[in-house]
Amino acid sequence: MIDAHVHLAALPEGDNGCYLSPRMLRHPLLRFLAWRLGLDLRNPTLANAVYLERLRGELARSAKVQRAVLLGMDGVYDDRGTLDLGRTDFLISNRYVLEVAKRYPEEFLAGVSINPRRRDALNELDRCASAGAVLVKVLPNSQCFDPSESRHIPFYRALARYRMPLLSHVGYEFSLMGKDQSAGDPARLRVALDEGVYVIAAHACSYGLLVREPYFKVLKEFVRAYPNFYADASALTLPNRSRMLFLLRRCPELYDRLLFGTDYPLPVFPCPVVGKNFTKVTRARNSFDRHALVLESLGIRCMDFSVLLAKIRP
Ligand SMILES: [Zn+2]
Repeated sequence: MIDAHVHLAALPEGDNGCYLSPRMLRHPLLRFLAWRLGLDLRNPTLANAVYLERLRGELARSAKVQRAVLLGMDGVYDDRGTLDLGRTDFLISNRYVLEVAKRYPEEFLAGVSINPRRRDALNELDRCASAGAVLVKVLPNSQCFDPSESRHIPFYRALARYRMPLLSHVGYEFSLMGKDQSAGDPARLRVALDEGVYVIAAHACSYGLLVREPYFKVLKEFVRAYPNFYADASALTLPNRSRMLFLLRRCPELYDRLLFGTDYPLPVFPCPVVGKNFTKVTRARNSFDRHALVLESLGIRCMDFSVLLAKIRP
């Protein structure tokens, strides 16, 4: 299987084009992940290598997942379409994503990130498409753009022409507390869907704030209305998103549009699983296998990203 949602993380180093703001460097979530993954933030060369080797090792040991779509992260752009580093928390450059995917073609596919507000968005898309990118990832909440604005239509048309899926974050984003979170509403992806883009809504449209799942309606409606709409099952074992798993359990009609994905390196919790499966899940040390086991034990079937790729680019 291919994991359609794996984050590439890197500290700025040499000409890798990545960026991390001083605010982000102090962020508790980043500190926690660095500690958990054994990354020394004072040594970028070593930390970047350790991150990649850990990920490759985890993939090699997985019984269920062989390849991963590595995701980049574009920054915030001002009204003239210029990169605004002052408002950007972190940036994982397409150059770095493409370079790593090219270095390990058996393991990785490139999921580049292009903020449609950037002045050279169309050129960047051309460049990434010819370099072999398989999808474009966006995080509207932190990249500060509204996916429903009609000014993005030329970008959506180009994505549709390239048959390049658009993977968009959905719901609340905890690393961005205090920022505008309304951009995470999946209903705003309708413009891209109407232009024929293959849209993948991340985290199965879960909201990310425990009990309420206001976007579940949108998930069901889009699956019915748009053959080009998909969702991914990433991050759903996190306690703040796991209620969506209980809703998905009751809707097998959605499984043909649900892609397997984890949101690595975020932890995978066994929390929604009960009974004998709980021991099975907690025994799985491998995070890809553990995520797959949680879904399996709840009877939730996922689609492999390779099936989607084969379908849209035969
Ligand atoms: Zn993610």
